[in-house]
Amino acid sequence: MDPLAQLKERISGARSLVVLTGAGISADSGVPTFRGTDGLWRSFRAEDLATPEAFARDPRLVWEWYDWRRGLISTKRPNAAHVALADLERRGPSFHLITQNVDGLHRNAGSQWLTEIHGNIWMVRCTACGSVEPNHDVPIALLPICRHCRGLLRPHIVWFGEALAAADIQQSLKAVQSCDVLLVVGTSGVVYPAAGFASLAKEQGAFVAEINIEPTGNSHIVDVAVQGRARDVVPLLL
Ligand code: NAD
Ligand code: ZN
Repeated sequence: MDPLAQLKERISGARSLVVLTGAGISADSGVPTFRGTDGLWRSFRAEDLATPEAFARDPRLVWEWYDWRRGLISTKRPNAAHVALADLERRGPSFHLITQNVDGLHRNAGSQWLTEIHGNIWMVRCTACGSVEPNHDVPIALLPICRHCRGLLRPHIVWFGEALAAADIQQSLKAVQSCDVLLVVGTSGVVYPAAGFASLAKEQGAFVAEINIEPTGNSHIVDVAVQGRARDVVPLLL
């Protein structure tokens, strides 16, 4: 059986389907991944800006970068892959989407059972009182200030070197450990803990599939690797 047909059959027979997505699914909407050359802003790499140290040193620079990314993302729409995953959720028995993306495109496509493990670029968090709120201003006022306590706001994003929210990691691990099919779409498999989800699901006996334009760190352990663009391949699963 060809890999796609095999995956389709597994999905239609699944009691519990979990999908893990990464920057590749949004690349098809025109949102740059970090690892491609489009990931650069001025001369900075994401790893130099998306850190607590960078924010402590120069919050204005970090906010300028996020403002630029928010402006870019605000012009992008969910693509056929985001829409197909929202459809799968409506059809399937038990469905859980875990995304490393912060762009909000899964939400815009209608996904509801969704854990955004790296946060959301359209949310801000107060560095003083901790309150979290939506903020869609583009451009955002620099530097943005909390309306409750006048503390400095930061993006509600999990930065390099920071821990994921405990509730998010628990929810994700529970879903991954109890699913019978795990589908991994557009993620390089180098950013932990999500990079470990494929092998975890495999150890629990799940069928694990990957959709990516190229082989990844997970390709050798998956049952099926489909090579292609997310927006072309994911809709074929319906
Ligand atoms: P990554 O940039 O490390 O990897 C992207 C993966 O997508 C690669 O394996 C690449 O081969 C694949 N890919 C590229 N185009 C594709 C397409 N059209 N169809 C299918 N696959 C495609 O991204 P990552 O693994 O998600 O991890 C990087 C980190 O960067 C994450 O923490 C994430 O939060 C963050 N990030 C998020 C966004 C976003 O929200 N859209 C964008 C860039 C980075
Ligand atoms: Zn505050």
